[in-house]
Amino acid sequence: MNPLEHPNTPAPQRASVVVVGAGPAGLTVGNILRRAGVDCVVLETETREFIERRPRAGVIEEWAVRALEQRGLAENLLRKAQRHTACEFRFDGRQHRFSYQELTGRHHFVYPQHLLVTDLVREYTDVRDGDIRFGVRDVQVHNVDTGRPSVSYTCPQSGQRQVVHCDFVAGCDGARGVTRRVLPPEQYRVARHDYGIGWLSLLAEAPPSADCVLFGVHEDGFAGQMPRSPEVTRYYLQCPPGDDPANWSHERVWAELRRRLAAAGAPELVEGRLIEKRMLDMHDYVVEPMASGRLFLAGDAAHLVAPIAAKGMNLALHDAFLLGDALVAHLMPDACGDTAGSDRGDGDSGLEGYSEACLRRVWDYQEFSQWLSDVYHGQAAGEPYRAGTTLARLRRLFTSPLAAAAFAEQYLGAAERY
Ligand code: FAD
Repeated sequence: MNPLEHPNTPAPQRASVVVVGAGPAGLTVGNILRRAGVDCVVLETETREFIERRPRAGVIEEWAVRALEQRGLAENLLRKAQRHTACEFRFDGRQHRFSYQELTGRHHFVYPQHLLVTDLVREYTDVRDGDIRFGVRDVQVHNVDTGRPSVSYTCPQSGQRQVVHCDFVAGCDGARGVTRRVLPPEQYRVARHDYGIGWLSLLAEAPPSADCVLFGVHEDGFAGQMPRSPEVTRYYLQCPPGDDPANWSHERVWAELRRRLAAAGAPELVEGRLIEKRMLDMHDYVVEPMASGRLFLAGDAAHLVAPIAAKGMNLALHDAFLLGDALVAHLMPDACGDTAGSDRGDGDSGLEGYSEACLRRVWDYQEFSQWLSDVYHGQAAGEPYRAGTTLARLRRLFTSPLAAAAFAEQYLGAAERY
């Protein structure tokens, strides 16, 4: 049965834009729209409490923070985030500190994703009076190839199907969402890459053991430390794909982290209770183009990049800036002065050029993640040739100023143009 004709459907509603998904991408689009006075509805399958506690990313690039700030979305972040100016590689049993701020004058912000989501929800609902509906079920997108698209869902309170007619749909529903499924198969392609490795992703109730991100390049596998807050630290351990987190006891995790991150003179790792332990099957994908008719995808709904270089949320934000601004320019041309002169990401592309403008940065970040993956995992590939070239790449970062500058630019996402 056509859900638009469901017998249990109350009167349809209308909004200029329906945003599907309240992650960093969807909430940023929603906030940009509300600031310009565009009426929109954000639909989210989870509860507010859940999304405000879901830990994921933490490293945000400086350009993204500036772009959030220009849209009035970075007040808490600027007050509370840590500034990181360096990272450290550990290989050959030694510490090799890489000070990217010295090379570029730029830094990273470290602010847990769930805090950013909390800020964005509060701003959208409490300050900008935005309409957000949590806990919705069975979201379906209709007629995006016509001038009258709509989105339907089951309301968690009444159990009734609700239809919202709109001018545009922003598909911001992440890697497991539904919006990209309505793209006509003959009009898009999905480019996918599997690394053939797993990462055990861990959150420890422990302060970081170093003041920066650590990359342990070890013959038994990669290990990483990503500070999140003074109380919580994220760690990663390379493991066989499909490995079961249950195989990794507290003792085994900490023994392996200590071994792979060992370096002469380095302080002992600070152990703590493991509050998250999940297996990541490392892969990337890119959907091209990121739009069809009146549906525009943003963030993980359109492209996934394994957390190798901490790029996913940054790309989601970049898409959201371009999409939010382009929708405002289209729907409220008089309100465009609002972001005039601001950092619109990679140019004022409009809705027409949205997909192409996003994809330039997406592919650049994908390529960097591939490169960095070889560095992380080459020592453990069991091939002397790859181990040798990995070490050569690592040494070059510390012997060639040009190679170091190129790495710093990519790591910070700081190129002049993409
Ligand atoms: P999401 O955050 O996934 O948001 C999508 C939202 O849509 C969710 O709230 C979901 O509940 C909702 N949804 C799903 N289906 C539907 C539906 N049918 N209808 C309505 N709503 C729906 N990135 C970085 O930049 N830096 C990092 O340091 C970093 N570290 C990471 C560490 C880990 C362990 C992981 C897993 C990821 C990390 N990332 C990092 C990636 C980053 O978390 C994602 O790229 C980011 O969350 C993408 O944002 P998004 O808004 O596109 O999607």
